[in-house]
Amino acid sequence: MKKLLAVLLATVMTMSLLTACGGSKSAQTTEAADTTETAKATDATGSQALADGVLTVGTNAEFPPFEYVNDNGEPDGFDIALIKAIGKKLGVTVEVENMEFASLLSSTGSKIDVSIAGMTVTEERKESVDFSDSYYEAVQYVILPEGSEIATADDLKNKAIGVQLGTTGDFIASDIEGATVSQYNKAVDAVNDLINGRVECVIIDKNPALVFEEKFEGQITAIDGAQFAFEPEQYAIAMPKGDAALVEQVNAALAEIKADGTFDKLVKTYIEEE
Ligand code: GLN
Repeated sequence: MKKLLAVLLATVMTMSLLTACGGSKSAQTTEAADTTETAKATDATGSQALADGVLTVGTNAEFPPFEYVNDNGEPDGFDIALIKAIGKKLGVTVEVENMEFASLLSSTGSKIDVSIAGMTVTEERKESVDFSDSYYEAVQYVILPEGSEIATADDLKNKAIGVQLGTTGDFIASDIEGATVSQYNKAVDAVNDLINGRVECVIIDKNPALVFEEKFEGQITAIDGAQFAFEPEQYAIAMPKGDAALVEQVNAALAEIKADGTFDKLVKTYIEEE
């Protein structure tokens, strides 16, 4: 028994010695790795996001025609084609990650490099991300069931309103006097609840509203938000705060894409033929 204890003790001591050595060794390795990482942390232009040659892009593929899941099960749409064209100009590989819209802002600069999701520029969002130049003007629309009598901003008071969680439609609805707001992760679920009579209207961006109007033809109508005094909104790409080199490069690529006709082609393919 005593012998066994001694052996055990010896083993434990050897192990801790080994750990100590290993510990200091790995500390050195980490330091060395850190130095290389600092040297590699930005690309030639000074952008951290572009340093590894891969632009990881977050989106929420529930927002046609800007982003949706195509027949091959992959994120597709105007925004996806646009960011791929930008990636090509910048010489980086674009990898798209589909996630909830409400997670995009906090993931930009950590889990993902940038977000493209028909995202409206707002002062509040500007506190956590930097935006590219705007690439599209939109406005919120009001989707109504056939035969609804809602027609003015006043009519929206005290109504049951469906929205997509964390969107500008959500912010507008939450400010309407007496409104009961139901927030959905997927816009189409809000539309389904409108058709089922669980909500009285849905507030969502213009182009998805028009896509849903066509998809559920005869059951719903999409009305221009200007009729409800909603302001125009600007879509832009969200980028990590402070990566000025990235913003500059993305804007330059966007300008080139607009100048060389690629942008108009994408509008025709994805938006005008929606
Ligand atoms: N434009 C809206 C916003 O930025 C909705 C975007 C979306 O649902 N993908 O909040």
